[in-house]
Amino acid sequence: MKVCEWCMYCGECAGVCPNNAIEVCESSLRFDKKKCNECEFCIKVCPINALSR
Ligand code: SF4
Ligand code: SF4
Repeated sequence: MKVCEWCMYCGECAGVCPNNAIEVCESSLRFDKKKCNECEFCIKVCPINALSR
């Protein structure tokens, strides 16, 4: 998953991830590739389209 520079670290994406694969820190997002099943819920929920594959 790629995060664009306009991400505001709101945590919406982490909140919908069914596998807890996203950790939101103060100024970064961490993706655990092993947990991700590529459902793309995080991409769809981001209010500013900051995520892409
Ligand atoms: S939902 Fe979008 S803006 Fe919010 S933390 Fe996730 S990627 Fe960043
Ligand atoms: S694609 Fe699905 S499983 Fe992977 S990080 Fe996004 S919400 Fe979580």
